[in-house]
Amino acid sequence: MAGVSRLQYTTEARLIRVMCSGRVDLEFVLRAFSNGMDGVFIGGCRLNECNYITHGNYHALTMVLLCKRIMEHIGLNPERLRIEFMSSAEGILFAEVMSKFGSKVKELGPLGKGKGEAIDQNELKSKLAEIRKLVPYIKVVKNEKLASRLENPEEYDKLFTKDEIETLLHELPSYYIDPEKCQACMTCAKRCPVEAIISAKNQIHVIDQEKCIKCGTCFEVCPPKFRAVTKITGEHVPPPLPEEKRTIVRKKKEEGETDKD
Ligand code: SF4
Ligand code: SF4
Repeated sequence: MAGVSRLQYTTEARLIRVMCSGRVDLEFVLRAFSNGMDGVFIGGCRLNECNYITHGNYHALTMVLLCKRIMEHIGLNPERLRIEFMSSAEGILFAEVMSKFGSKVKELGPLGKGKGEAIDQNELKSKLAEIRKLVPYIKVVKNEKLASRLENPEEYDKLFTKDEIETLLHELPSYYIDPEKCQACMTCAKRCPVEAIISAKNQIHVIDQEKCIKCGTCFEVCPPKFRAVTKITGEHVPPPLPEEKRTIVRKKKEEGETDKD
């Protein structure tokens, strides 16, 4: 409506249209900051006026509340992220909100260099890259809260606390494949969403900790008869087995022994 009515608003904004504000993933917002955006604004339909039964705007709201805490953890001013709800007919409101947000972002200055931020650009890049890698894990762990429908703005600040996010990001689990137990059945490697498991036939499997996004799938899918994947929290992950020691030597069946034996 703002465009049709030729309303003026901040010229620095770049619009990305999505079907629903609920489509805006936490990763998208963090990616925008990684790509150097100084602010991110999400406009959604008014709460309880969603066209879909999923009420995606509530998801967008909880995602923003979580992202703001993550930004605080990284050392970014959470005011760089804003969500507002309005109908498509409210062009004047949209133009006003966008202009105000544009002024706010200008006042805050460049990302990482604004008031109270002072983060080295390389450090900021690596922190954002690290958090982006953890998005699937964060979403799984905070799934219940992310599904909340907050009716009252007074509840917003209480949904995620600073301490909660500090704890979440300091107590990250790691997954490790016990070489004594792995039978190279390849189940975990086939299910890993990011190909973080070094896998080959008759080779003990190894998790590439750099690639692992801590989703826990390998832990869930390793057959109970092997239970080769261990979840480790607060301890160092043992070093990976050297490549030359990964081959599994299977015992040959004794003469006359059948598969059933
Ligand atoms: S936890 Fe397991 S399945 Fe998930 S990314 Fe890491 S190695 Fe892959
Ligand atoms: S699922 Fe378990 S036994 Fe099978 S390859 Fe993975 S770690 Fe090894």
